[in-house]
Amino acid sequence: MGRVIGIDLGTTNSCVAVVDDGQPVVIPNAGGYKTTPSVFAIASECEYLVGYRAKRQAITNAKDTVFAAKRLIGRRFDSVEVQRSRGLYPYAILEGPNADPRIRVADRIFTCSEISATILQEMKKVAEAYLGESVDAAVITVPAYFNDAQRQSTQDAGRIAGLDVLRIINEPAAAALAYGMGREEEEKIAIYDLGGGTFDMSILEMSAGVVEVLATAGNTFLGGEDFDRRIVDHLLDVFEKDTGIDLKGDPVAMQRLKDAAEKAKCTLSLREVAEINLPFLGSGAEGPCHLACEIRRDELESLVEDIVDGTLESVQRCVKDAGLNADEIDHVVVVGGQSRMPMVQQAVANYFGQRPHKGVNPDEVVALGAAIQGSALVEGTQDVLLLDVTPLSLGISTYGGHFSRLIERNTTVPVNKSHLFTTTRDDQAAVKIRVFQGENEQALENDMLGEFVLSGIPPAPKGEPEIEVGFDIDSSGIVSVSARDLATGRQQSITVNSKSSLSCEEVDLIIEENTRLELAFRG
Ligand code: ADP
Ligand code: MG
Repeated sequence: MGRVIGIDLGTTNSCVAVVDDGQPVVIPNAGGYKTTPSVFAIASECEYLVGYRAKRQAITNAKDTVFAAKRLIGRRFDSVEVQRSRGLYPYAILEGPNADPRIRVADRIFTCSEISATILQEMKKVAEAYLGESVDAAVITVPAYFNDAQRQSTQDAGRIAGLDVLRIINEPAAAALAYGMGREEEEKIAIYDLGGGTFDMSILEMSAGVVEVLATAGNTFLGGEDFDRRIVDHLLDVFEKDTGIDLKGDPVAMQRLKDAAEKAKCTLSLREVAEINLPFLGSGAEGPCHLACEIRRDELESLVEDIVDGTLESVQRCVKDAGLNADEIDHVVVVGGQSRMPMVQQAVANYFGQRPHKGVNPDEVVALGAAIQGSALVEGTQDVLLLDVTPLSLGISTYGGHFSRLIERNTTVPVNKSHLFTTTRDDQAAVKIRVFQGENEQALENDMLGEFVLSGIPPAPKGEPEIEVGFDIDSSGIVSVSARDLATGRQQSITVNSKSSLSCEEVDLIIEENTRLELAFRG
């Protein structure tokens, strides 16, 4: 078997690491950089570009350059997040089979897994060039708050990239593994990870090689991209007030604004004022118009204050779910590029009453942790043990569309549980099992993972048949469900996956059908 690598597949940047002579190291790309932009593009004559080469040409090739595909992966096309992204990015996001989003690049249609696969393949190449040998296995990280569909689509991306995905692990847990290397003391740490597209918060307990996640919370659609967007909106206003020109429909201008916004945002992490100069941004009746303005740190802070506050709500819930008080946390580790913003650092420091730990490189720890986990899996060593949790409650829809939780959020994985259900009508010959993940009491308000029918139930009065439904979440957080009629031994099972996502019409049909095939708890 070739080498195993750890890949941090980020919304904005990706990073690859390997354990070499017992030490995890980050592998630089051909340009010498330790991270590679998660950007894919098709340039003239069908040339595929990934990473810096794709990012550099984005302004002149906006609609065929794909940023932030991770924000779309494993989501339904009609979800709020995908619909919001459609206005945010110049590339075309379309509805595909099973309501999965597809991305059009230079007249070719890609699934989000395929786009992510191009990035993973690039990281694989970076590692192979460095190691001088082929790499065929990887541990890939995802936000802790990713649901089953997002995890499965990421796993698919790995397979498409030609990698044997040994495990999907959570970014904060990976960061904790790297942070904990060589530390012996028992401690409780909080990991606050604010990246380009996602926010994750986890509380973990560490002791000599064992990392146990106590609780996790987050938002898979909140990150630096949203900060950029606030600045872009502000600049659009400034420009329109100045010139009367609305730039929203101009993809090149929008891409230039986004670039300038991100640069200004990063400058403002170091300085009080940033200058924005974009000549020839639009043209009006009197000829070309330019944008030249300044933005102050306090202005940026007031533009994004609510976003930062929003992250603190997750922090609060996470600490509570861990059964702790803020002052019981020994160390706070802050990772992700967006957490370099002083306001974010300050908010975290205020909440926990301590300065965040500075000893880790926020861009590299996640990949390092993935490499450590990969090496432990291959070597079969026992000195690293990661006990992670499932971020979302798992259950099924029962009588009246109620969400019956079978596995609560923050339960340690792997886990399996089963429960007995029964019919709601006399002589009901089949039941439909619909599986959801989420926290809402109404099943349909949560993420539907999939559904299947168990048929061939012998005629019996309602409430009599015993149907055992088993739920399994593996170490990668991936869900499978099975149902068995105890009288006949008939069994149906599925690895629930995003391919079974349903459209609105289908959901309507199910609701109707479900009144016929309803099931209820049995003692
Ligand atoms: P991801 O893990 O999602 O790929 P990263 O952790 O690499 O993301 O963070 C990328 C985000 O961090 C981008 O939105 C970027 O603009 C932002 N960022 C990077 N450096 C800074 C900085 N100095 N100040 C503020 N934001 C920054
Ligand atoms: Mg990240």
